[in-house]
Amino acid sequence: MASYWISLKDLPSAGEDYRVVEQAVWEDPIAEFNLPYTVTESLQADTHISPQDKGYLIQGDFRGAIQIPCDRCAEPSGLLLAAHFSIFEESDPSLSEEDLLGPKFLYLENDIWFLDLAGVLWEQFLLNLPFKHVCSEQCRGICPVCGSNLNLGSCGCEAEEGDPRLAVFRSLKIE
Ligand SMILES: [Zn+2]
Ligand SMILES: [Zn+2]
Repeated sequence: MASYWISLKDLPSAGEDYRVVEQAVWEDPIAEFNLPYTVTESLQADTHISPQDKGYLIQGDFRGAIQIPCDRCAEPSGLLLAAHFSIFEESDPSLSEEDLLGPKFLYLENDIWFLDLAGVLWEQFLLNLPFKHVCSEQCRGICPVCGSNLNLGSCGCEAEEGDPRLAVFRSLKIE
């Protein structure tokens, strides 16, 4: 995974802006995890990191566009990404990495805190993917019998009349 480590040692009290346009931040994990996403409009993030009383506040906006498979027909379909995020990471050296309450993206080395900004941005990318994505609300999906894409036309398979396991009940006569 692309690393984008920011040393927080000399971070001014007002914070600092970081613009991330390196596509590897997103494209490396997409390739590494073999995810079916294609970046079609460069992803970029404008972030602001500011020191707080007991940690760091990471705020930002990211945007871009990708293609992802439709949940019904599996064809690649465009998805615009645009999101704002704001996360707080506590910089308490007594919290170990194994501690669930500990920071996810901060690392302490030789008394200097480092922020894994690429990790933050990859997580934000994943959090902003829709649970279900359809190419269009009218998408007809694929035929459950032959697997044809029904958006391209009817495949000629017999339409199932309800659940076949219930057919026996439909033919029962009530006496
Ligand atoms: Zn579709
Ligand atoms: Zn069919």
